[in-house]
Amino acid sequence: MMKNTRLIEKAYLLGEFVDTKNKFDVINPASNTSIGQVPDLPLDQVEAAIAYSDKAWQSWKTTPIGERSQLLHQLYQLTLKHREQLAEVMTLESGKPLQESLVEVDYAASFIVWFAEEGKRAYGDTIPSVSTRNRLHTIKQSVGVVAAITPWNFPLAMLTRKVAPALAAGCTVILKPASQTPFTALAFAKLAQDAGIPAGVFQVVTSTNSKAVGKLLASHDLIRKISFTGSTEVGRTLMEQAASTIKRTSMELGGNAPFIVFDDADISAAVEGAIAAKFRNAGQTCVSVNRFYVHDAVYNEFADALTREVSKLKVGNGLDEGVKVGPLINEKAVEKVQKHVQDALDHGAKAKTGGKHLKGNFFAPTVLTDVAADSLVASEETFGPVCALFRFHTEEEAILAANNTPFGLAAYFYSENVRRCHRVSERLESGMVGVNTGIISDASAPFGGVKQSGVGREGSHHGLDEYLEIKYISYGQ
Ligand code: ADP
Repeated sequence: MMKNTRLIEKAYLLGEFVDTKNKFDVINPASNTSIGQVPDLPLDQVEAAIAYSDKAWQSWKTTPIGERSQLLHQLYQLTLKHREQLAEVMTLESGKPLQESLVEVDYAASFIVWFAEEGKRAYGDTIPSVSTRNRLHTIKQSVGVVAAITPWNFPLAMLTRKVAPALAAGCTVILKPASQTPFTALAFAKLAQDAGIPAGVFQVVTSTNSKAVGKLLASHDLIRKISFTGSTEVGRTLMEQAASTIKRTSMELGGNAPFIVFDDADISAAVEGAIAAKFRNAGQTCVSVNRFYVHDAVYNEFADALTREVSKLKVGNGLDEGVKVGPLINEKAVEKVQKHVQDALDHGAKAKTGGKHLKGNFFAPTVLTDVAADSLVASEETFGPVCALFRFHTEEEAILAANNTPFGLAAYFYSENVRRCHRVSERLESGMVGVNTGIISDASAPFGGVKQSGVGREGSHHGLDEYLEIKYISYGQ
């Protein structure tokens, strides 16, 4: 294969691509071979980036929103123009099927165009005073320098969901992409450079030392906000570190999504939704279904239909035609999936299809039935292509089981009864609910969790507010 010209083996600081002596390999999870190297930046270069970012903020925050919006529109156009190349980079470093990478580029781009426009609507208020003759106003202003730390499962979309609103709001951003997927972020940086985003407004620091870089970013005085997507464990650490300087935080953390199939559900629609909500990125998304609760009356029908569809999913290298399920990100991920499956089997579950490690980082798409409530998969996020089916008898029982977790990101359910649809969506403890749908992400809607799944929302006008401060101004007579 010809080398993709978008594989840039340099970090992006102050508008320039810079090299370093120390570099690290980026591994293609489909073959476990290196696709290239990027700089392992020393901490003093990350510190320098913070200073550049602060300097750039001084002029970026006062640049008219019309101009900032124009630049974001440019960036949007360039992202779409380079759709195929970006998708290929993403598949090479994350393993996801090319078709999914293409969809991700479009999804990622949708945040750029959304916030290019939404940035123009950062309205303040005029407030009637109840006690004085003063005139009360509010204005919204950029928070300041933002640190964004992103994961490997959506190398582009998790990035634009933070960078686009931050830039639209007038913030500058230092991005630390996951060390597994830095090339997508660097390819995007090239587009930002080509679009004319001023030097220092957006920078990409690459490192294998996530702990030290994370600590520096989360505790540095000049950084006013940290936006993180990743595990709850790391999110907790970053919030602790951010507390030292009272930084604002947005945390999009782990989930443990339930998917309830009621006895009045359209079963074929539920199976279709289940495949979409479970097998995207081989089950490695924070809104992937982790627990299927199926009513006793439709349990066998749903399990059989789901098994038929799951056995058809083609597994392989994401660049190959027709592949629906790629490799997991690495060996550790495979081990976790194996552990969850084995534990469920040990507790009495049956594997209707799959249930085994294939080779390398590939795991067979799996359906497990009669999973016991005390299995690991009931309480921990599996992050793999495994459907674990639990049985229930009453609506109350299903809701209690669904809510029986410290997480609350996404939840899904299928029912044809409109009153039940309202009732159940209101009672589920999650930031997002898919009713008769397995796909919920949309740039115009607020994405985020409750409980230990995070704080804050991304996308929609709420996603812009994450990067804005409200200033209240009182005018005396
Ligand atoms: P995942 O399990 O999906 O890899 P992580 O939370 O480990 O999720 O990683 C998400 C992002 O957080 C990545 O960019 C990773 O490099 C970074 N990261 C990992 N550990 C830390 C840490 N201690 N401090 C800051 N960032 C970290």
